[in-house]
Amino acid sequence: MKNNQKTNSLIIPIIIGIIFGILIGGFLPNIAKSIQFIGTLFINSLSMLIIPLVMTSMIVAVTSMGDIRQLKRIGSKTIIYYLITTGISVLIGLIIVSIIQPGIVDNQDSRVLIRGGQVLDEVVYNIDENNIYIEKEQFRNKFDPGYKVILLDQNNIQGIIETPKASSQYSLNTLTVKEWTNEKGEVATPKNQGRGLQIDLGIAQTVKGKEKRSITDVLEEMFVGLLPPNVFQAMAENKVLPLIVFSLFFAGVLSTLGEVSEPVISLINGLNEAFMKMIHVVLLAAPVGVGTLIAGRLGEAGGFSGFAAEFVSLGKYAIAVILGLAIHGLIILPLILKFMGRRKPVVYIKNMLPALTTAFSTSSSSATLPLSMECAIFNNRISPRIVNFVLPLGATVNMDGTALYEAVAAVFIAQIYGVNLSIPELIIVFLTATLAAIGAAGIPQAGLVTLVIVLKAVNLPVEGISLILVIDWFLDRCRTTVNVWGDAVGAAVIESSEDKR
Ligand code: ASP
Repeated sequence: MKNNQKTNSLIIPIIIGIIFGILIGGFLPNIAKSIQFIGTLFINSLSMLIIPLVMTSMIVAVTSMGDIRQLKRIGSKTIIYYLITTGISVLIGLIIVSIIQPGIVDNQDSRVLIRGGQVLDEVVYNIDENNIYIEKEQFRNKFDPGYKVILLDQNNIQGIIETPKASSQYSLNTLTVKEWTNEKGEVATPKNQGRGLQIDLGIAQTVKGKEKRSITDVLEEMFVGLLPPNVFQAMAENKVLPLIVFSLFFAGVLSTLGEVSEPVISLINGLNEAFMKMIHVVLLAAPVGVGTLIAGRLGEAGGFSGFAAEFVSLGKYAIAVILGLAIHGLIILPLILKFMGRRKPVVYIKNMLPALTTAFSTSSSSATLPLSMECAIFNNRISPRIVNFVLPLGATVNMDGTALYEAVAAVFIAQIYGVNLSIPELIIVFLTATLAAIGAAGIPQAGLVTLVIVLKAVNLPVEGISLILVIDWFLDRCRTTVNVWGDAVGAAVIESSEDKR
């Protein structure tokens, strides 16, 4: 009980930390950046506990079940719950993106021409010695450096410029260029006005090297990766899923050994208790950790004004993702919690707040796992037998927010490229987004990398990822929060289904 009160009493300090974080990051971006290291310490202190905690809690969960058939039953219920809720979230994403249509500009003719795409006309540009001025604001964006802008006069190429390698942030509204080349690479003198632009996007740095993998490669990698060739290497690389498999195997065998296994089991129980206590101590740093992380990232974006510019550049897309996440996280999951988990959603969410805010500030479900377990066990009083099994598994395979985001992002990119996805193609997006979310690791921007699978499945250019990069850091935080929330709701649902038996 004492434990419970302590954790709950942190909610107000965490909210104060967030408010301070937003204010410092928004108004004093430079100071905010300089205190970000405090947040990194917080992330590190959580990360160092992930592997010890996942392994011991999985082993404790299985050995405390007594009967291995229980594991089979709870395991299959958990997987089915995760698949169904992930499917629902993808569906919400697809509906929202089809209604809002964030990638379709009002005037069909003024679509930006992206590599291999359609002619972009009616984007009037003017050139003076060193600059091109573009009348349209809407393509103000931050791309990876080194993409090409091709200037067209009607359909004839007038000049090609490569954006500066050193800078990754500039406005397309005015672009400073040093040299013009024509198609053959010769120095060109473009006319001082033209009516078309083609943007040749580069592959985003984050997905470089991954763009050639086919779906079968990714699936194969996922399955082969389930068994670690070296347990210690998996630990060193913080690979949670293979360690879950190892721990399940180990615990399953341990529970068949009878008397000889008793000291081992009680040792692991003791270790698990100690790790949980350590989390409790780390949690005390959450208000400062969460606040400085938010401040630092907002500072990196250039404070409120920088963030607003980023948001506006992809506003409709960001709103589509956030709206979808809100519907799933604030309507669908609470309804599931109420009717299937038999819990009061408001109380449950309040008790999970330390974990949810940590998810938002770290963009990592895995780093948040220790706190999710702490909040589920001590605040929401879910049986450790369930939490120890359901949450570590959920942190790596159950990502409702990521799945929803992948579906919205893929359809958004299709809309920008002017590709109309047919119903069978949308079904492929549905299936691959679910799969991609399962395959994504619980680390920052993992979803951006697995988005490649979805894009490739429906033949959309992987370069399109460069278009959504600018705002991804923010959307990553939002989807990670929903990922963690989905796992927490899962724990209540599985517990309630066990109680009913
Ligand atoms: N950052 C997310 C997570 O840890 C994964 C993603 O990029 O969508 O849950």
